[in-house]
Amino acid sequence: MKFAIVSKGDERSETIKTRLIEQLTDYSLTYDLDHPDLVISVGGDGTFLEAFHRYIHCLKTTAFIGVHTGHLGFYADWVPSEVDQLVEEIAKTPFQIVEYPLLEVIIRSKSDRVEDRLLALNEAAIKTTDGSVVFDVEIKGEHFETFRGDGLCISTPSGSTAYNKALGGGIIHPALEAIQVTEMASINNRVFRTIGSPLILPKHHTCLLKPLVDRSFLLTVDHITDTYTNVKSIQCRVAKERVRFARFRPFPFWNRVRDSFVAEDDPTLPRR
Ligand code: NAD
Repeated sequence: MKFAIVSKGDERSETIKTRLIEQLTDYSLTYDLDHPDLVISVGGDGTFLEAFHRYIHCLKTTAFIGVHTGHLGFYADWVPSEVDQLVEEIAKTPFQIVEYPLLEVIIRSKSDRVEDRLLALNEAAIKTTDGSVVFDVEIKGEHFETFRGDGLCISTPSGSTAYNKALGGGIIHPALEAIQVTEMASINNRVFRTIGSPLILPKHHTCLLKPLVDRSFLLTVDHITDTYTNVKSIQCRVAKERVRFARFRPFPFWNRVRDSFVAEDDPTLPRR
């Protein structure tokens, strides 16, 4: 089996990376940065997002796993003291794969050209540098509302515990193939009216945002921000691609949510 490691780059993460490479190659696994079957991220959730985007072109054949070297991570759920155990698990067992849905974002220009097609593990956040965003929001081909405000966040189920949660969105179990649309400070008065609640859209229910004011947009997909001008529409839906997590022990989603947000944060304890 071939593996790659994406490290946060700090001293602690680099030490664990070196140890992992030594121990896994001792078990005759191959360190291959180009075509890995398994990508191990060593750092935090930010490192995991980076690893996901670095290997986004081979999601069908690559599985991901995270070791956290800072505070508890949502995606990075192995602690440094468990590295030996993780190495043994990787070396000896055919691992179980758990797949989670992703978000697809398609940006079309005014000439109706597809400018970009992006995949998000957590979310896409759409804002502008200049005043409010003003969008016609269409759902499944029908006009739903005109949104005016700071922006919109469209998240995946696994991203529902990230930015979406801070915006008052609900937490969605990743077994549900859905995306969630949450508002950022919508303007609601006698002229402008939005639903005000997060919307959860099933697979095939596309959300189309059509700008009504000619502005440049800041589109942040996970940790990557780009600026788009001349935008005709931003289309969001559940992607046909999925992310594959390697699982060597059960760690149910709700336990992960509990341990991240409810249970006492003790980084010295193994996360079970
Ligand atoms: P960062 O370093 O600012 O990390 C933000 C925090 O989000 C970290 O504590 C990380 O552990 C946590 N996080 C990331 N994905 C998560 C998930 N799926 N569930 C629960 N927590 C999660 O930024 P970064 O490392 O570049 O990560 C980018 C992510 O930060 C974005 O995808 C977005 O979800 C999140 N974010 C959150 C807020 C907020 O909560 N107000 C604002 C902006 C961005």
